[in-house]
This record gives sequence, C-alpha cells and structure tokens, in this order.
Amino acid sequence: MNDLISRQTEFFDVVDQIVKLDKLSHSYLIEINDFDEDIKHIKCFVKMILCKNKDVSYNKLNCSFCNICKLIDEDNYPDLKIVESDGQWIKKSQLLELKSEYQNKSLLDNKRVYIIKDADKLNSSSANTILKFLEEPEEDIIAILLTNNRYKVIETILSRCQILSLKEENENIDIDDNLITLLRLIIDGEALFIHYKSLIDDILIDKEISKQLFIKIENIFIDYLNYMSLKQSELNGEVITILKDISEKNIIKYISIIEDELPKLSFNINYKLWLDSIFSKLVEVRKCMM
Ligand SMILES: [Zn+2]
Repeated sequence: MNDLISRQTEFFDVVDQIVKLDKLSHSYLIEINDFDEDIKHIKCFVKMILCKNKDVSYNKLNCSFCNICKLIDEDNYPDLKIVESDGQWIKKSQLLELKSEYQNKSLLDNKRVYIIKDADKLNSSSANTILKFLEEPEEDIIAILLTNNRYKVIETILSRCQILSLKEENENIDIDDNLITLLRLIIDGEALFIHYKSLIDDILIDKEISKQLFIKIENIFIDYLNYMSLKQSELNGEVITILKDISEKNIIKYISIIEDELPKLSFNINYKLWLDSIFSKLVEVRKCMM
C-alpha cells in the first residue's frame, strides 16, 4: 500500500512540473491499477490542465470550486470525453465519432481532453483511426490513454505517447546468480547456444523452473523500462550494467518474445524444442542490433 501512495505522489510530482512549466504533450499513456480507483487521479490531472485558477497550489487537493472543476467532478464538462470499449475492442466508429466531435472549435476557449479507457483494446484497425489524430494534434487537444498494462498497447500507439504511471510496482524480484547468468546470456545472444548444455544442466533444469526464471526475466525487463522512462524504480546495479546498451525498443522485443513463448510451456510441448525456439528468437534480437 505504501508503494502505491508513493507512486501517486511521484505521479503528481511529475504532472505538477509538466503543468507548471507548460510542457504538456499531446498524448499521454498512463498505466493504472484499476479504472474505478484511479479515475479520480486522472480527473485531478485533467483539472490541473484545464482549471484557470493558476494560483491554486497544485497538489492532489486542487481546485474544486471553479465552474470548470465542478463540471469535471460531475462528469458534465463538455470538452472532456471518455471512450470505452463495449466489448473486446474499441471500435473504429467510436473513434470516428470522437474525432468529429473534436473537429469543431471549442466554445470554451480552453484546452480539450479526451480519455481512452483500456488503450490496450485499440487493435491495429481502430488504432489507425486514432493515429492521425495523435500525430497531427490540434494545438488544444490532449489525449489521455489508460491501460493496466502498457505492454499490451500496440507499439504504434505507445511510441506516440508520453508514458506516466500510477501503477503499483512489481514486487521486488529477488535476483540470484542464476538469474543474472541467464540475463547475461540472453543479452549476449549467441552465448545461449554456446552454453546450451550447462544452461540445461544447471539452470533451466526443467519446465517449471524455466517458467519461473523467464517470468522473473520479463519482470526485470519491465522494471528496467520503468527505470529508463521514469527513473522511478530502484534497480539492481548488475542488471543496469548488463542492460545499459540495450534500447527501449529491443527491451520491448525481449518482453514480447517471452510473453509469446511462455504460455506454450503450459501445453504438452517438448521442452527442448521449446528452448530451441525461444533461444532462437532471443538471439535474433541481438543479431538485429549488430
Ligand atoms: Zn478549478
């Protein structure tokens, strides 16, 4: 719980600076724990953007007495729309409707904001509709995309947003020698095959142990991304040294390979074949960096 509170404090410290320094970007992707819980924080951010009482101290208790803030609190502010899916995906038609609503100039002479709940429910077809909107933002329109897991958001969207987080951190991973060795070999690439035999004999002994280790490796990558983008997470020094030359894009590639391959372990799959497959894909990432 303490973690969560400090997370919120960090979030508001960041947005406070953004607003104060007038450094708003056009699109934010905010990682949250739970929409119903976190929407109050998101609305607070929106109020910080829209409220005209600039002398109000912008902490979490920001203004709720001006007309704008009142309307936002009551969900009646006309230039704040929330798009949410009513099924598996957010539909193209919902986004077209949103775009047409924001096409006309606002009558309120203020910035306008729209929120997309579950940005991970934008598939490539619906995302295309919104991309142009994110790419050529009108001066006064700000997008806030929300997700529980930013790694489920398609990359074309992700890369156009500034990423913020209200999400509770992963529990600290206890990092042992085996984990460090495996991480080193993954990052080295070819070494995975060179040390294949000792890896299987000593570290990746069976399916279950492999599964646990790769989950930890994935969490290390996720922690490292947080560390890169927000400088918020504390990270093991050895991990930082191993990963320091790897770009964000490649870290995301590693994560998605592990996410694709891990579920296959639950099927009745030949374990050695599974290892060959995941190793080849991991090595490929390294090759592409050369
Ligand atoms: Zn206000």
